[in-house]
Amino acid sequence: MPPIIGISCCYELGSDRYHLARDYVQAVQLGGGIPVILPPNDEVDTSALLSAVDGLILSGGGDIDPGMFGEEPWPENGSIDPHRDAFEILLATRALEMKMPLLGICRGIQVMNVAAGGTVCQDIAQVIGRPYKHTQQAPRWHVTHSIKIKKKSTLFGIIGVETLRVNSFHHQMVGDLAPDFIISAYSGDGVIEGIEVPDEEFFCVGVQFHPENLCQRHPVFGKLFIAHAFASSRYMSNKSAAIRQENSKES
Ligand code: MN
Repeated sequence: MPPIIGISCCYELGSDRYHLARDYVQAVQLGGGIPVILPPNDEVDTSALLSAVDGLILSGGGDIDPGMFGEEPWPENGSIDPHRDAFEILLATRALEMKMPLLGICRGIQVMNVAAGGTVCQDIAQVIGRPYKHTQQAPRWHVTHSIKIKKKSTLFGIIGVETLRVNSFHHQMVGDLAPDFIISAYSGDGVIEGIEVPDEEFFCVGVQFHPENLCQRHPVFGKLFIAHAFASSRYMSNKSAAIRQENSKES
């Protein structure tokens, strides 16, 4: 049975609608998972919610409220959604505790870092003198800047190359790295483009780019969703085995 993969999404106040780009759903299917969309709701029991899925993807979106990592807002900080912030940070915290396969994309890499005790740099241009263009105006499926991937990383194990061109739609980046994480990729201007938990038993990978927009034209990016679905499948088997063991104890 394919693993069920939860994908967080955004809430748009103006239209009173939840939404998620279709590319996320298609990328999960391409990877071999069954996608389900998780609407932001900070009153839901996140443990109960996560018991219904085998893997989690934190999707892209707007900026996190800097209050969530103990900072005052810079003028460059964009519009924020307190409900989504609270929901996703709870979800990420719980997924980290459960060691549920976790893939963070763009805003998602920042959410996982904050949930694990790190911070976000609120605006790249304020801290890097001559950054690359990280808010590309080219189509989403087009790669515009390169990144270096560290050889000793899960990301390298998946992607298999040290230099890769990616798309880029962010003005913020990972700031202080969370204690249990390592940097897996960065761009030549010093921006962190990938982080992860260095644990062979726990798939926890974050990327600052958007692989879901690239995997149709550039199959290398599909490998991320295949690896995440594979880890989720393994998580699902372990969960079923634990339930069977629990049931046999009771009977
Ligand atoms: Mn970038």
